[in-house]
Order: sequence, then structure tokens, then C-alpha cells
Amino acid sequence: MYSRKPQPVEIPEEMTDVWTCSNDGCNCWMRDNFAFQDEPACAQCGATMERGSKMLPQLSNYTSDHKYGKKSIT
Ligand SMILES: [Zn+2]
Repeated sequence: MYSRKPQPVEIPEEMTDVWTCSNDGCNCWMRDNFAFQDEPACAQCGATMERGSKMLPQLSNYTSDHKYGKKSIT
């Protein structure tokens, strides 16, 4: 049996376009490349979202895998 240690993978970060919720009480956001509408609504509260950017780990494997695209990563 192999032990399930998390693999220490260094993921470089980059400035990534994101949408952030305009609702002050909500800190939901999503990556721009996961948004399929020009102006997506917040998945949490339904408010409009505003463009912004965040330092996020680069995505390499599944940026084009739309099956998992709608999952919001917080
Ligand atoms: Zn929200």
C-alpha cells in the first residue's frame, strides 16, 4: 500500500482576470475563463459581478475542460 501524501507541487502564480461579486456582503468570485457570459451573475447571491484581477496559481490541465468550468473556486 502506498501512503497518500499530498504531492508538493510548486504552482507558479500569475495575475488572472476574475469576476468578483459586487455585493459587499459576499466575497464570491470566479475566474474569467470560467465565465461563459459577458456579465455573469454571482453563483452565491445572484448579484452582478465586476471585473478584477487576482494572483492565482496558473491553470494548465483543465482550463479548456468545460465540464468542470462552472465550479467556483474559493
Ligand atoms: Zn455574491
